[in-house]
Amino acid sequence: MRFRKPTRPSGRSEDSRRGSYTVTIRFYEELNYFLPESKQKQSFEAPLYPGQSVKDLIESLNVPHVEVDLILVNGVSVDFSFQPSPGDYISVYPVFESLNIENVTRLRPFPLRTPAFALDVHLGKLARYLRLLGFRAEYRKNWDDADLVSYGVDNLLIVLTRDRGLLKRKVLDRGMFVFSTDPEEQLREICRRLDLYSLVRPYSRCLSCGGKLTVLEYGSVEFDSVKDKIPPGVISWCREYSLCTGCGKLFWKGSHIRNLDRIIRLIQADSLL
Ligand SMILES: [Zn+2]
Repeated sequence: MRFRKPTRPSGRSEDSRRGSYTVTIRFYEELNYFLPESKQKQSFEAPLYPGQSVKDLIESLNVPHVEVDLILVNGVSVDFSFQPSPGDYISVYPVFESLNIENVTRLRPFPLRTPAFALDVHLGKLARYLRLLGFRAEYRKNWDDADLVSYGVDNLLIVLTRDRGLLKRKVLDRGMFVFSTDPEEQLREICRRLDLYSLVRPYSRCLSCGGKLTVLEYGSVEFDSVKDKIPPGVISWCREYSLCTGCGKLFWKGSHIRNLDRIIRLIQADSLL
């Protein structure tokens, strides 16, 4: 479909025209969390400035563009650079995991939510929990915002943050705002929003570095080469060990496992809801 160019009244200055146009816009699903209550789950009028892209329009309403996966203008999918016309009806959708949108154009050439993540410095515990479930979760204590964004973009990772401003960076096209402040709730939130349940592989990654774990066969040559690292009080009873292929750390199921098992059970219970 061809779209209409905004008709611009003649003889008026740019400033006098600003805000004189409106579009009708509606946000769907979780995108409503970014809106004030009066604008949630309903159509509302929003000011449109001459030449404004739909991406800028969406962000002027406080919704980070990285949360958006599909925009329809008068029922036709458009990309972020599209310039709406006054009176247009705009529908804005978050990422779909189950809805069939094969016949429309997503904003990116491939799905946004490949479940691999880069996390900001405040989300260290969430990074460990995501690794516990088997997901790639990159996290460095010394990353500043620019490091995080460039690492995320270069490696096609979803940047997780509680900083909305960071999600508005133009270069970023994969990102999610984390609503909760509690690490366990954050984990549940990410799993729910991205429907990650079928991809969960508990204890397949190192909690420290995120490297993949390999099972060490008790008594094997590989096991013998590291067994002097195991405390005598552990080797006397424990027969199951894993080795991190990233940092070389050795893991066994000690007393700390109870809390980790509890978190995994929590996620498994959520998947049944
Ligand atoms: Zn490791």
